[in-house]
Amino acid sequence: TMLVAVAFSAVAELWADFMRASGAADRVFELLDREPAIAAGGVQLPEVRGHLEFRDVHFAYPTRSDVPVLQGVNLELLPGEVVAVVGPSGAGKSTLASLLSRFYDPQGGAVLLDGHPLTTLDPDWLRRNVAMVAQEPQLFSCSVADNIRYGRPDATDAQIEEAARAANAHAFIQRFPEAYATQVGERGVQLSGGQKQRVAIARAVLKDPRLLILDEATSALDAESEHLVKDALERLMQGRTTLIIAHRLSTVANADRVLVLEGGHVIQSGTHAALMGQDGLYRRLVERQFVAA
Ligand code: ATP
Repeated sequence: TMLVAVAFSAVAELWADFMRASGAADRVFELLDREPAIAAGGVQLPEVRGHLEFRDVHFAYPTRSDVPVLQGVNLELLPGEVVAVVGPSGAGKSTLASLLSRFYDPQGGAVLLDGHPLTTLDPDWLRRNVAMVAQEPQLFSCSVADNIRYGRPDATDAQIEEAARAANAHAFIQRFPEAYATQVGERGVQLSGGQKQRVAIARAVLKDPRLLILDEATSALDAESEHLVKDALERLMQGRTTLIIAHRLSTVANADRVLVLEGGHVIQSGTHAALMGQDGLYRRLVERQFVAA
């Protein structure tokens, strides 16, 4: 079995490398997430306050080690704080999320949770305490209920329904032919983008993590779905430290703080109102990009 385990982890590593190299990492993130961590061990904190810090983080992707992506990033999220990250395409926003979920580790500096470098923490334990709602969540080819249960494998049907209600997903699930038992995905019912997001939110509700990463959808949802997703996200964020990769003006305006990332550095930080009062990149981004979107 030892040999099998070694062979398996080698395959898993190759697979992870392949997915990283092919840039499909975001899409399989949640899939990899459920695999046991290759390097187990490390500390499990008895309690998570949710204080998060990037301290002088330097990072380049292993496949392109000559291209620095993060060049001394410093940022801090206080427990329960909702922080939106904005910046031009390629600035490194998604990379922050990848480091936070330990998809990669920085080459310099550290990412700290409650003062502990993530590299010293038990990876499985960490994954139970961080949830990510991706732009285009992938659903598995199984029942809606099992797709939600993925957030917490031992959840009861009642807990799944409760999470779906909190995620504004219960009503549309009820309308499916077999309600929660309905098969979704390739051979089942096709969900709209907004419905998929609400299933992903229900997963996160069930998981009940201290840390949340939201990668806001860039593609437009219909107005009704948009409202329901936003409402569900607002509820989900309550009391959790949340990092949002933001693409919408309404999101940044509601965040406790906005960070502007450019060229691998945090170049501005403050509330939306404060940053609008500065003659800087933020105001230009808002005027150009968000207003058009
Ligand atoms: P966008 O708003 O377009 O999503 P972003 O700010 O999220 O951009 P990142 O996706 O973090 O930017 O990318 C930062 C830089 O790292 C870019 O130059 C990108 O090409 C590069 N990069 C991203 N993912 C990988 C990868 N898996 N391997 C190599 N380089 C990558």
